[in-house]
Amino acid sequence: MNYLIRDVSPAGGPRGELKIEDGVLVAEFSQPGLRDVEVVEAGGLTALPGLVDLHTHLREPGREDAETVLSGSRAAARGGFTAVHAMANTAPVADTAGVVEQVWRLGQEAGYTAVHPIGAVTVGLDGVQLAELGAMADSAAGVRIFSDDGKCVHDPLVMRRALEYVKAFDGVIAQHAQEPRLTGGAQMHEGDVSAALGLPGWPAVAEEAIIARDVLLAGHVGSRLHVCHVSTAGSVDIIRWAKARGVRVTAEVTPHHLLLTDEKVRTFDPVFKVNPPLRTDADVHAVREGLADGTIDIVATDHAPHPTEAKSCEWSAAAMGMTGLETALSIVVATMVEPGLFGWDDVVRVMSTRPAEIAGLPAGTLEPGSAADVVLVDPAARRTVDVAAMASTGSNTPFAGMELPAAVHSTFFAGRPVLAAGELADIGKAHEWAN
Ligand SMILES: [Zn+2]
Repeated sequence: MNYLIRDVSPAGGPRGELKIEDGVLVAEFSQPGLRDVEVVEAGGLTALPGLVDLHTHLREPGREDAETVLSGSRAAARGGFTAVHAMANTAPVADTAGVVEQVWRLGQEAGYTAVHPIGAVTVGLDGVQLAELGAMADSAAGVRIFSDDGKCVHDPLVMRRALEYVKAFDGVIAQHAQEPRLTGGAQMHEGDVSAALGLPGWPAVAEEAIIARDVLLAGHVGSRLHVCHVSTAGSVDIIRWAKARGVRVTAEVTPHHLLLTDEKVRTFDPVFKVNPPLRTDADVHAVREGLADGTIDIVATDHAPHPTEAKSCEWSAAAMGMTGLETALSIVVATMVEPGLFGWDDVVRVMSTRPAEIAGLPAGTLEPGSAADVVLVDPAARRTVDVAAMASTGSNTPFAGMELPAAVHSTFFAGRPVLAAGELADIGKAHEWAN
């Protein structure tokens, strides 16, 4: 099927049409009388290139009670994402070519979004022995990003060797910056609120010390470092300094760190328990500024679904993490566009174009000739977040019941509508698509 999307405004551009022929955006259809063209009346909606997430937990294999590649892919489509990067801390850990190929194939079978596995840096996330990085890079999954996310690669020599190894194929080490010796038993950000509540704190310096070390290592080796979920003002300063010195470092911030502060922990609602923890108002302002001036390159969801029982318990026993795929775009609009820090072209940059560049994907553009990954957004819509209507298996969103701006209307993945007027397509089995 081919598509003519009428009356649409590409972000920042004049109203016009988008044409999709055989899964590819084209300036003009190949024949004037092309048959099998479905007309989509967009009614002035904004078109963005499909969003690209560099930090998604899909939980499969091993924790299918929390999420599967299929349910997470459906959540991605609802959020406007046409590519997600699946973190390696599954069970078994994605530290071999076999596991990353399994995740990649499950993504293809699901068919709602591209699923690119992230490989573990070390075997079993143990921080000791390098995983088979080369075999994962050479596998069918073509892994380019490696991370022990959930854990920090804390040994500087292991980190140096990982950076040296991936340099051969221009890979990226994505670091979860958390010095474990400074965060033992931590339950929330260390500061006034943790002192008042009597909860063990996770100090900002535990993140900043690792980032400072790693930008020096990356500069020394000449390799690419990506800093996951930056959460403190000090981290932004260090990355700004490193970029000014020419270090090949990129960084991400999550939607929740753009909006929420540690004051939320006073509720003792475990939905606000996350790693890195929610920080202070000053940190929120600093990460917004860092995103606005390009110090922080991208927004990544850190979508972290958990089964209900992992969150329906006392604070100290609860798992860390929040879901994020289905709310990310709205949070970026609320925190960056509405306060005037961003235009829609900036949203495209931090949620599509730059993440695609970092991952080495030919995505993040609406130029003719590129794959037809397109999201249609109603920028004027307001919606109340309804957990029951979400596609993710996880219901641990801190935004439940909130009224948020902007709504994803439709998502085209590789030229096929996987979300149409807010409704997920019933794709069925992948073999029906094979052609
Ligand atoms: Zn994560």
